[in-house]
Amino acid sequence: MLEEGKHNDRFVFLEDVAEELDMAFDDSTTYYNTETGEFTYCSDYFSSEMDSVEFEDEKYIALPSRYDIREYDMMAEFADDVCDEHKSELLSVALEGEGAFRRFKDTLSRVGLEDDWYRFKEEAYIEVARKWCQDYEIPYKVRNAAHAQSAQEGNEPYRHKCCMCGSDAKIHISGTQEASYCLECHNKLMAAQTGAEMPDAVPTQIVLFDVCEEAHAFAIESMIFPHCKSIRATEVVGTTCYKENVYGELSDRFEDMWSEMVRRLEKSLSKKYMGDDASFEDMKAVGYVDYNRIHDAYEVVIDGKAYTWAQLEKNLSMYEGWKIKIEFADMGDELE
Ligand SMILES: [Zn+2]
Repeated sequence: MLEEGKHNDRFVFLEDVAEELDMAFDDSTTYYNTETGEFTYCSDYFSSEMDSVEFEDEKYIALPSRYDIREYDMMAEFADDVCDEHKSELLSVALEGEGAFRRFKDTLSRVGLEDDWYRFKEEAYIEVARKWCQDYEIPYKVRNAAHAQSAQEGNEPYRHKCCMCGSDAKIHISGTQEASYCLECHNKLMAAQTGAEMPDAVPTQIVLFDVCEEAHAFAIESMIFPHCKSIRATEVVGTTCYKENVYGELSDRFEDMWSEMVRRLEKSLSKKYMGDDASFEDMKAVGYVDYNRIHDAYEVVIDGKAYTWAQLEKNLSMYEGWKIKIEFADMGDELE
């Protein structure tokens, strides 16, 4: 874990990191210089010609390698997600055996999904870049607003389009009445069906400040379900990931739910459970459990920061002989 303040006020654009990742070769490592913000390559073949010792300096952070990025898995996931069953199968078959990369690309052009694949791949690389920034606590920003929110949050592949307005769909209804909707159209439809109230202009983002006067930007998603409605806040910029859900009855006023959301967000930003060395400050901590797709592991997010079980274990060892209480609650419930 790097010390606080090590990276100054420097930040990277996720798009730049993703581009570096995409350009990387099998036999080279790209390093990020936290002091200058530059990326530098170091080829494993020609390392004798370069000062590779230099990169042992703490100011250099290696980007994930080709091996870590697993583009093959991205292809397999894409093939799996394609809605058209026939095309999906052709792509999956192309990925079997040797020469998979070339065959996959040939098949893509044959079934006319090249553009979709490049969009999918771009998103996947952005996610790798985001995870890398989060892991090494490198502040980041996005150039493209569509990258502000993690694609992990999406319920369905982005390729689905809203059947009412044609914009990117967020909600996919399967079964006999299969259809995709954007959030807005879905809410309009559900409001008409259930009679639930949802104002025309609901907030889509909010910025709040924590105890250290640091800004936290949240993306807001409001939804009407057949039997309830919800507001979800997900932190989208920076190194932390605070999350909050508020659920209400169909008859609840949206304004009241929104006040409750703001109250909860302000409350969680007003306290810190963990000290700088990942120690429990208060003899207690509240957070949420999250799946890390890149590491294929579950993490505990406290104060908006993800901790692996190994990191927490070190901490727990201080409390040998003490009692501990673990309590689980729905994301919409408030834990004290
Ligand atoms: Zn729509």
